[in-house]
Amino acid sequence: MKMNINPFMAPDHKRPFIIAGPCSAETEEQVLKTAHELAPQNIDLFRAGIWKPRTRPGSFEGIGTEGLSWLRRVKEETGLKVTTEVANTQHVFEALKYGIDVVWLGARTTVNPFSVQEVADALKGVDIPVMIKNPINPDLKLWIGAIERLYKAGITQIAAIHRGFSYHGETKYRNIPRWQIPIELKRQFPNLTIIVDNSHICGRRDILLEVAQKAMDLNFDGIMTEVHPTPDDAWSDAAQQITPLQFKALVSEMVFRDPTTDDVEFLENLDHLRHEIDEIDEELLNLLGKRMQLADSIGRYKKRNNIAILQPQRWSEILEKAIIKGGLKGLSPEFMESILRAIHQESINHQAIVMNAKEIEA
Ligand code: PEP
Ligand code: MN
Repeated sequence: MKMNINPFMAPDHKRPFIIAGPCSAETEEQVLKTAHELAPQNIDLFRAGIWKPRTRPGSFEGIGTEGLSWLRRVKEETGLKVTTEVANTQHVFEALKYGIDVVWLGARTTVNPFSVQEVADALKGVDIPVMIKNPINPDLKLWIGAIERLYKAGITQIAAIHRGFSYHGETKYRNIPRWQIPIELKRQFPNLTIIVDNSHICGRRDILLEVAQKAMDLNFDGIMTEVHPTPDDAWSDAAQQITPLQFKALVSEMVFRDPTTDDVEFLENLDHLRHEIDEIDEELLNLLGKRMQLADSIGRYKKRNNIAILQPQRWSEILEKAIIKGGLKGLSPEFMESILRAIHQESINHQAIVMNAKEIEA
């Protein structure tokens, strides 16, 4: 679908576009204190979750409508524009009633076309900027589908928020970024504003800058970061929130690139490719780690059944198949053979360690 997306929040739109504020509005005092400390930092939007989608019931599920009047006070006292997450018709109506400037769809909403459509229908005829987080699963079409539903409802100021994707393996992130996905979104919709939510990608404070910088290097338009006056006491997402002062330091340490000349454009493209390569290398490493874990399991299994490690028949089959398949992807037989030999050798080493390990007597 062809979309004519207008610049997000024109005419003030500047790069980088900065959104900050607490994960959740907890008390009037907490909301106002955060806003007053962020206002002098020239942020573009103040965020606070009023209705919180929590994984399990019993966690703090948001302060509800009462918090909207606190956001109205933020506007009155600081002049900041405010944004909150909406997930159904009632949220939309309440948010509009209280003068919320921008709304966003959370990752758990984007994943469900029924909910996205409900929000889109509730917004029909209202010209309010909308930000759409990626769905929790790495499905670019679902993300684009949500953007299209809002666009078809008449919303023309749309931004996408990249907050990472659920992942079951070991990773340093709370939600792995899979940068290729937002990069592809940007390729398909060059005018779409893309903002990185480094807080939900990281889930921790120590790598917030690294992820924000990576997004800037990839030419993202801005950041959304969770900021709380006393992060450790936060009622939701405590581990990833930072103080207004720490946020100021974070922004000051970020390097903003300005892609103007042809040369810079070239360097930037090169950067994109390199980031993608780093990402793939990390995935390759993860996969190799997983493969070796399987080798360990096989080693234990063979040991129990007293079977030799090397199964020449199986090894020849793997090698032959890989050489054919590799050829189809432009990989030379020499390369396929040498990489597979190295992997196979490492597997054998793993199995040998497992098979020769002395059982610890219980
Ligand atoms: C949030 O922004 O606090 C939030 C709930 O994020 P997400 O929808 O990305 O999980
Ligand atoms: Mn949060």
